[in-house]
Amino acid sequence: MPSKKNQEGITAKKNENFSEWYTQVVQKCELADLRYNVKGFLVFQPWSVLSMEKMYRHMEKNLQKKGHKPYWFPTVIPKSNFEKESSHVKGFTPEVFWITKGGNTKLEEPLALRPTSETAFYQMFNLWIRSYKDLPFKTYQRAQVFRYETKATRPFLRGREFHWIETHCVHATIEDAMKQVKEDMQTNKEILHDIYGLPFIFFQRPEWDKFAGAYRTFASDVLNPDGKVIQQPSTHIISPSFAKAFNITYKDKDGKEKPAYTTCYGPAISRIFASVVIVHGDDKGLKFPWEIAPIQVMIIPIDIENKEIMKKAESIKKQIEGFADVSLDSTEKRAGEKFNHWEMKGVPIRIDIGLNDIKKKKTTIFRRDLDKKEVINEKDLMKKINQISKEFTKNLIKKADKIFEGRIKKAKSLGEIKKAIEQGLIAKCNFCSVNKEGISCAEKIEKETGAQIRGTKLDEKSLVSGKCVICGRKANEIVYVARSY
Ligand SMILES: [Zn+2]
Repeated sequence: MPSKKNQEGITAKKNENFSEWYTQVVQKCELADLRYNVKGFLVFQPWSVLSMEKMYRHMEKNLQKKGHKPYWFPTVIPKSNFEKESSHVKGFTPEVFWITKGGNTKLEEPLALRPTSETAFYQMFNLWIRSYKDLPFKTYQRAQVFRYETKATRPFLRGREFHWIETHCVHATIEDAMKQVKEDMQTNKEILHDIYGLPFIFFQRPEWDKFAGAYRTFASDVLNPDGKVIQQPSTHIISPSFAKAFNITYKDKDGKEKPAYTTCYGPAISRIFASVVIVHGDDKGLKFPWEIAPIQVMIIPIDIENKEIMKKAESIKKQIEGFADVSLDSTEKRAGEKFNHWEMKGVPIRIDIGLNDIKKKKTTIFRRDLDKKEVINEKDLMKKINQISKEFTKNLIKKADKIFEGRIKKAKSLGEIKKAIEQGLIAKCNFCSVNKEGISCAEKIEKETGAQIRGTKLDEKSLVSGKCVICGRKANEIVYVARSY
């Protein structure tokens, strides 16, 4: 019989067998139960839900601060809305779940379970927007969306139902729409990077890789240890034909009726959670950034039978409540098992309460950012927790940024791109064009390396010089190449 320790802890190494490591973390840390009896649908468990709730709060607060108003739209979208804009229909139709019956009655019009909500919001924008004074009109909703994924599903990364926020905004001009895209990129930096601790690159996607119905697509990519990038939030300037299909116009200052421009930004919280798990986790298990940890401080009484220890544990818990989310593990397990368990589950601070410390007026704490144990004076405990809370996420970010930056490699030839991809890196190279003229060069890269052109960075547009690494024509872009999910 395998030892208990082996059953409970993570046995796969993150950098050697990433896929197995991820599966073990999801199951052993009780993030999701995969046994629900509809394929591609998960039961999210408390340890992930508590963290994702905090992720939502940070994101929503930030959006509201920037003037987005919250809405709750219906889950269903009538087929006629859905079919108003042809490229959107074409892109999304294969993934739509349809409701066709109510009880035993066939519905007059089938209803789509929203795969995304442009066609729901735009129906109402048409009724709400009258004049330039109404613009910009900035909304968002927190919702679940449904897509009939045919690719293999993976918990949190790709499923048939996911939990997200979608913003939908209406603007008077394309310049205002572009301003919104830049604001969305800034939001991504403030929340994904500074709070969730995730390094990413925000790309403008090539023409051939746009959201169905978008005029321009911008999307952030986060890197996994297996060298594959995963698309995280994207923001789009929606094609003007979309607003036109829904007749979203406004009366301008000059009294003329003008077409509006729309944008949307879609941070998928359940998918971003996967990146939090993957980017910060280690061979022991999870590491949560302080701000989004389900529990921030766990108190472990070394002996739950000892009244003095339990009294001290309770009093320390009371002290911390109000400052941090704190819990006390008074289960029957051995203290050593509890240490391993909460380290695996990624609790930022653990406080061990034992008799020796109590006598000496000391406290032993363990911090998961540095995996370090410290013995401090009992009276300094709150000061110490306060200090760690401020440093914790920064330490995780520092480490993640360093790894990410070290994995971007400049490549001067197809051979160098290939080599970089084989080493699990993101290759960066000169390229002719991300419009249709460059598609044959892109195809060559994709065929030879199994990787894709992810896009260009807005702030590198002015830095381009030299020749396309494939065709030798003048380079107009610096593109990034990586394998993806
Ligand atoms: Zn080329």
